[in-house]
Formats: sequence, structure tokens, C-alpha cells
Amino acid sequence: MIFLIKILVLIFVGFVLYFVILRFAPKKALKHRICPKCKSKNIGITGGSQVTMLGAFFPVEHECLDCGYTSIIFPEKEE
Ligand SMILES: [Zn+2]
Repeated sequence: MIFLIKILVLIFVGFVLYFVILRFAPKKALKHRICPKCKSKNIGITGGSQVTMLGAFFPVEHECLDCGYTSIIFPEKEE
């Protein structure tokens, strides 16, 4: 019986440690491309499938899905 309680305590301590580590672990900074014109985060890639082959050699052009602004350079912003 004592053996069982020890296992339960170990599991409990493990859970507590897990949540404490999760809580204090540094959050990964998410990078979002934002439209320089309307500040929208709704950015897509123009060209679709044809980009896959050329994308290795040429920079991918992005398009703002909200205002239609297209550019190779879209600023990235950390959240
Ligand atoms: Zn835009």
C-alpha cells in the first residue's frame, strides 16, 4: 500500500514539475509578416505552385490578401 502511495506521489510531483516548466519556459516568438500598407497579417504567397521550383532561386513574392499589395519584401514582426 505504501509503495502505491509513493508511486502516486511521484506521478503527482511529475505533473506539477511538468506544468511549472511549461509555465516558465520561454515562449517562442512567433513571427508574422505584416503588410506595410494596411498592417494586415493576412499575407499569402503569389504565384502558387510555380513558386516551388523558382522559389529556390528567386525570392518568393508575397501578397496581402486584404488590400492586394504585392512585394518581395514584407516586414516580419515578432508577436
Ligand atoms: Zn495590405
